[in-house]
Amino acid sequence: MSLPADLLPAVLDALPDPLFILSESGRYLAVYGGNDPGYYHDGRTLVGQTVEDLLPADKASQVLDQIRQSLSENRLLKVEYPLAAHEVKGLESADGPREMLWFEGHIQPLAEPVNGERAVVWVARNITPRRDLEEKLRRASVIDPLTGVFNRRKLLEVLAERFGEHRRYGEPCAVVMIDVDHFKRVNDQYGHSVGDEVLIAIAEIGRGMLRENDLLSRFGGEEFVLVLPQTDLDDARQVAERFRRAVIEGLATHFPDIPPVTISQGVAAMREGDTSHEGALHRADQALYEAKRQGRNRIV
Ligand code: GH3
Ligand code: MG
Ligand code: MG
Repeated sequence: MSLPADLLPAVLDALPDPLFILSESGRYLAVYGGNDPGYYHDGRTLVGQTVEDLLPADKASQVLDQIRQSLSENRLLKVEYPLAAHEVKGLESADGPREMLWFEGHIQPLAEPVNGERAVVWVARNITPRRDLEEKLRRASVIDPLTGVFNRRKLLEVLAERFGEHRRYGEPCAVVMIDVDHFKRVNDQYGHSVGDEVLIAIAEIGRGMLRENDLLSRFGGEEFVLVLPQTDLDDARQVAERFRRAVIEGLATHFPDIPPVTISQGVAAMREGDTSHEGALHRADQALYEAKRQGRNRIV
């Protein structure tokens, strides 16, 4: 059994995702489907106009390139792109989502020319929820959930990158290993959740004073590591000293009822003879150990 031919327009109209017929020169020849305003805007107003009339110049030229690529390779081309209603002339106030959307475009050459010109079928699926989820997962894979700073995994990745630059171009890079002093006492006397808040506050204080390319990470427990590119040992020591003071002041303000919480820090720099990023990390760890041994609340 097959559907009666006169049902075809209704079928096209009920396509869940919008389907555009686009000519090689970028003209919207027809638009079908995509009628749910929870996901899409009514694109029928676009018919007769070109992508260059309607889209920002960079997006229009990308669409044209993709149409031509699909045509010249004569195959299904899959692309992903962001687009918001306010970027499309005529859709600025149309019903539909207002925020930036992500689309997956499936572009298939039409076998027959339309009005003497080659054309493609372009199906645009709204994949914004999937992109949002991917972005969340991507963030979760590099971010420490408690403090919001980078995790150990990201730290090691960035350190290895910095070490590559150090070895190839001699770029200086310093590493600071940070450990909260007597943190067990905070947990024991005020509870684990206050301990957590102290860690969150320390991370926030650190983030507030760093340059764009500096990286603050939670190494584990109550230990943090700071990576300072373009920084020699003396400058790194000054950064650590500012951090030490900022933590004392910041925590006193945040937690007026608990005795001063301090940090100890070990500072090291990448240097000639290192065979990997582990060298500086190890020396920073040894320096931290020495800072603890000398009485804490200090930098070695
Ligand atoms: P010091 O470093 O000065 O030698 O003493 P410390 O008391 O900080 O020593 P230690 O490193 O042995 O203890 C760290 C404590 O940090 C033990 C652990 O229960 C606590 N800790 C680790 N991770 C977390 C966390 O995510 N939240 C809280 N609240 N505590 C944590
Ligand atoms: Mg520790
Ligand atoms: Mg500690």
